[in-house]
Amino acid sequence: MKYIGAHISASGGVENAPLNAHAIGANAFAFFTKNQRQWFASAYTQQNIDLFKSRCEEFGYSSNHILPHSSYLINLGNPGEEEIEKSRSAFFDEMSRCEQLGLDRLNFHPGSHLNQISVDACLDRIAESINMALDRTSGVTAVLENTAGQGTNLGHTFEQLAHIIDKVDDKSRVGVCLDTAHTLAAGYEIRTREGYDETFRKFDEIVGFHYLRGMHINDSKKELSTRVDRHDSIGKGVMNLDLFSFIVNDTRFNNLPLILETPDETLWAEEIQLLYSLIK
Ligand SMILES: [Zn+2]
Ligand SMILES: [Zn+2]
Repeated sequence: MKYIGAHISASGGVENAPLNAHAIGANAFAFFTKNQRQWFASAYTQQNIDLFKSRCEEFGYSSNHILPHSSYLINLGNPGEEEIEKSRSAFFDEMSRCEQLGLDRLNFHPGSHLNQISVDACLDRIAESINMALDRTSGVTAVLENTAGQGTNLGHTFEQLAHIIDKVDDKSRVGVCLDTAHTLAAGYEIRTREGYDETFRKFDEIVGFHYLRGMHINDSKKELSTRVDRHDSIGKGVMNLDLFSFIVNDTRFNNLPLILETPDETLWAEEIQLLYSLIK
């Protein structure tokens, strides 16, 4: 079965996330565990936590269909000592928030080398940051998102994701989220049957499907290999509906949160219906 939803707002309290997801007919959802553009946020209250949990239960959302997203400020590969400390403690805080909510995964962008260290040194640093967070938390998987490779962002090749995973000590708590727009922009042609099959064959060979913990389902304003990250609404960008049809008819994506991060939230309910309608 497919679990399709969107990255919805949690403003006014984390307990609003399951309400907002239910309102658009989502069977899965993503949200920011705290304001994504600020370093600090007040801790959840017991009431936030209890309401979040009871609403998830009421609307039928289980933890394996919820994919919280961490702040964009965090760079777990930051070359600077003070800077990486800040990122590591913010990441630990977000992993702890997931733990408090009874959630089992946290999605994040791997990190950027900022032209100050080598790609490999940065990947090692990211893995070290993950190890530190996993040591201090339990039950939450750190989910690396593949990126478009914009600027000095890493994680745009399957080899880079595999490099990080290889250096994580607890392999049972590291995972991957693939974003369709990032995958295309990073240089993987997924819009044709042959390209799609070849891309996911490579993903399985280099990373392994058993690490997959979710997908971001986005159209892209930017073409293949542009390495620019610009999402578009489903059917409005450079993708075609074939790609989305391949995904919703592919059993390898069963039982995972399939999350829209498309720019026009007024279309989410329709986009979810469209994706379900493509299931043959
Ligand atoms: Zn994404
Ligand atoms: Zn993106």
